[in-house]
Amino acid sequence: MAKYDLIVVGMGPSSIFLAYELVIKNKAKNVVLIDEGKPVEKRYCPVEKKGECMKCKPFCNITSGFSGAGAFSDGKLSLYNKEDEDIYVGGNLHKYIGVEKTKELIDYADNVYLKFGADKHLEGTEYKEEVTKLKKRAKKEDIDLIGIPIRHLGTEKSHEIYKKIQDFLEENGIIMKYETVVDDLIIEDGKVTGVKVYSANNKEEKEDLFAKRVVLAVGRKGADWLSNICEKYNIKTEPGAVDIGVRYELKDEVMKEVNKYLYEGKFIGRPYPFRDKVRTFCQNPSGFVSEEVYDDNLSLVNGHSYKDKKSTNTNLAILVSHNFKTPFNKPIEYGKNVAKNLNELGNGAILVQRLGDIRRGKRTWQEELDNNDVVPTLKSAVPGDITFAIGYRTMTDILRFIDAMDKVVEGFADPHNLLYAPEIKFYSNKVFIDENFETNIKNLYCIGDGRWYDKRTYDGISSWSTNGKKYNRNGGIKNDRSR
Ligand SMILES: Cc1cc2nc3c(=O)[nH]c(=O)nc-3n(C[C@H](O)[C@H](O)[C@H](O)COP(=O)(O)OP(=O)(O)OC[C@H]3O[C@@H](n4cnc5c(N)ncnc54)[C@H](O)[C@@H]3O)c2cc1C
Repeated sequence: MAKYDLIVVGMGPSSIFLAYELVIKNKAKNVVLIDEGKPVEKRYCPVEKKGECMKCKPFCNITSGFSGAGAFSDGKLSLYNKEDEDIYVGGNLHKYIGVEKTKELIDYADNVYLKFGADKHLEGTEYKEEVTKLKKRAKKEDIDLIGIPIRHLGTEKSHEIYKKIQDFLEENGIIMKYETVVDDLIIEDGKVTGVKVYSANNKEEKEDLFAKRVVLAVGRKGADWLSNICEKYNIKTEPGAVDIGVRYELKDEVMKEVNKYLYEGKFIGRPYPFRDKVRTFCQNPSGFVSEEVYDDNLSLVNGHSYKDKKSTNTNLAILVSHNFKTPFNKPIEYGKNVAKNLNELGNGAILVQRLGDIRRGKRTWQEELDNNDVVPTLKSAVPGDITFAIGYRTMTDILRFIDAMDKVVEGFADPHNLLYAPEIKFYSNKVFIDENFETNIKNLYCIGDGRWYDKRTYDGISSWSTNGKKYNRNGGIKNDRSR
């Protein structure tokens, strides 16, 4: 019976930084990191050679393995402006620990990446005047532009950096268990005591692993799993949101100002009539649109850019945040259904459509795509009609946002620009944690992406209601005499 001091589920950046800190603080004794994916040097996506997504089994190498969701990402570290009195990118940490402390932690994390070989050059710092002008132009269209310094690692460089970190952790005694799926938690008397795992290559190879503490760092990939675990063990949560949208691809020359001045412009609008938050995200100058496969074989679109290999297109996500409350409060289910329908329309592949065709109420045909001004960088995408499945509200938000952006960046609404779908960002429900990241299950902690935190957890709250049931701090059902 394997017994550890600490089990960490997932090997994404949150887990890696936890392990790194334990090593630095000389506390990395008997710590195991578990991931369903492979070591970073074995993570390989066949799409470049084969020209289409091979739906790798047992797991997509893009979403799983050492360095987590970000392994094939553009590797952009969004920092902050020294003069800013708020933090505009990267979640809500500053609301809990304050802006100054958050800035210190961003510097600290940035320095770790520098130590392992990140490029010293920062994007988005040279053209302050031009950025101010761009911001003013955006403001006129009711769009906020957030410009902050960015350290661009590049996809291939992030692999090198993460390989060095992986070696560093292993050399310092961190145990890595790859291609291992965590199926369930082991909970005894309101305390977590371990996890149930099986081999990613053979479901019948099962094992129980025990530990004094368990940390869940399962990212967006594990958002659905985590939501189910929270429901099963009465871990206190609140429904989160889902971001649904498209990957937008246009010529570099249209985006040249934004690319040059900012590298990544974060534009945020709230178009009429819904006033939903619509934002650009993950902008990749001279980049490539990519595909990744999630559980249930869902194909989602994404994008990245390399440090050396370049296309002549820029791609970025246009995402709409959707919240649900009552009677339906399952944002992940909603997002999955949208993705499923879009995948079906593309016969399992990513759908692509020209903006002009959407305006004219028609699908895009292959020959039109072949002769299009903007040449698609995701060759496996199938031309079709995304309006059949993306939802009126989301589509309206996106089209209105594109129109407003056209007044900020001329050519943003060019009819040849391409919309790929589905691009969806899943977040599991907000997990309530205390200041030590501990959930209401003793010795069970939650960190990283894929979930949102609410630190109200124990601050004066001893019980709460979810789905008509009342729970107490220990996760038990309050006043439930049957337990
Ligand atoms: C295409 C793309 C581009 C991005 N670009 C950037 C960027 O440029 N800059 C930036 O800062 N951020 C970027 N991000 C976001 C960034 O990658 C995430 O914020 C980060 O990876 C979150 O880290 P994490 O540790 O919380 O989880 P993840 O990195 O998602 O890692 C979670 C890990 O847990 C594993 N896992 C999940 N469930 C289980 C289970 N049940 N059993 C075993 N293993 C499990 C998964 O396989 C995965 O490896 C990008 C993300 C994507 C997808």
